[in-house]
Parts: sequence; C-alpha cells; structure tokens
Amino acid sequence: MEFVSGNIGWIEVICGPMFSGKSEELIRRLRRAMIARKRVQVFKPVIDTRYAVDEIVSHGDLRMKSEIVNSGSEILDRVDWRSEVIGVDEANFMGESLVDVAQRLADSGKQVIIAGLDTDYLGRPFVPIPDLLALAESITKTLAICVRCGNPGKHTQRLRGAEDLIVVGAADIYEARCRRCFEPGIPKQTELDFLKGRKAGAQ
Ligand code: ADP
Ligand code: ZN
Repeated sequence: MEFVSGNIGWIEVICGPMFSGKSEELIRRLRRAMIARKRVQVFKPVIDTRYAVDEIVSHGDLRMKSEIVNSGSEILDRVDWRSEVIGVDEANFMGESLVDVAQRLADSGKQVIIAGLDTDYLGRPFVPIPDLLALAESITKTLAICVRCGNPGKHTQRLRGAEDLIVVGAADIYEARCRRCFEPGIPKQTELDFLKGRKAGAQ
C-alpha cells in the first residue's frame, strides 16, 4: 500500500486482541510515513490515557505523539487538511462516527491507518471495526500469544471486574487467550466467587 503514486486516499485497518501488536504496527507504519517526509497526524480517544495523555504507547513502550479526541467525529474538526497520513489508535473507543470520518478522509486523498480491537471481552465484533473492515483497502489481523497454552490467540480475556463493555485496563484486567482457552463468562463468575468469599469471611 505504501507505494501507490499520486494522492489517492485509502483506509488500512490493523485489528486483533489486546497485546497482539496493533499499536506497534501502527507506530511502525507511521514512522515509515514520517521517514518518507509525509505530514502525519495521530489521534487517540480521550478514554485511553492509561500510559500517557499526548502519546500512543504500546505494551512494549514504543511511543508516538498523538492528539486526544472525544469521538471519531471530532477528528474532522481537528484534522490539519495538509496532513497526508492520519493514524488512529484504540478505534474501538471512538464510536460509530469513525466510519464516516475515515471514508471522508480517504475520499479526500488521505492515507488513513486505523488500529483497534476487533472483538470485545465476550468475543463479539466491536463497533466500529466490522464496518471499517468492509470499507478498507487493506486489512491486517494481528494475533497475540495465548498466555494459557502458547498458541496464537485472538481473544481478549477479561480477568475480573464489571460487565460494562468498556473497562479500560491493561495486564491487570486483561490477558490474551486463544479460541480454546477463552472463557467469556468468567468475569461474572470470578466476581460472584469473590463476593461469596467475602460474605463467608464476614460471618
Ligand atoms: P496492542 O496494541 O495490540 O494491545 P501492543 O502493540 O501495545 O499491542 O503490544 C504488543 C507487545 O506486547 C508485544 O510486542 C509484546 O512485547 C507484548 N506482549 C505482552 N503480552 C503478550 C502476549 N500475550 N502476546 C503477545 N505479545 C505480548
Ligand atoms: Zn490457549
């Protein structure tokens, strides 16, 4: 995709579970664009300030300067129209509006590179990645290593906590699992056991 001539726009999607190298791959592609002297702008959602406010950060601690937006639609307000390459990390926190925004940016000649979780903690497709996959010119699916068995893993296992769709965390709450080792019902169970244990202890 890097060597298309002229400024025809396009959309690239990098998706997979947590710890699969999405941010590393996004940063690698954006660095190459910078080396090619392209104007690059990077956005991440306000919800994800786990490691840094003004940077995207990989689990291996690669970093790149980024701007924070509240939703996908805010990217249109913040984009410098001279930018040639637009990177978006944690797209799964950007909402449905990112689909239209990505299309408009690509239609206006920009290279849009989007990274995000393709499934949620229950293994369900995570908005807005499915639509972006359908509309993209290029798709990369990254897999993590299942921490249980060492096979390639496509799932993000939530280890404890709420049933909310979005609970921001890292290795403290989530781990990578393969299809066989994935246990989608486990957070609820763990929570109940924990409460039962506490009640028993209080008696
Ligand atoms: P993502 O953006 O998909 O969450 P990152 O790019 O932030 O992933 O981090 C990928 C890095 O995480 C790997 O290069 C590796 O150093 C580290 N890592 C930690 N746990 C795992 C795992 N279970 N499988 C693969 N990589 C892991
Ligand atoms: Zn496994």
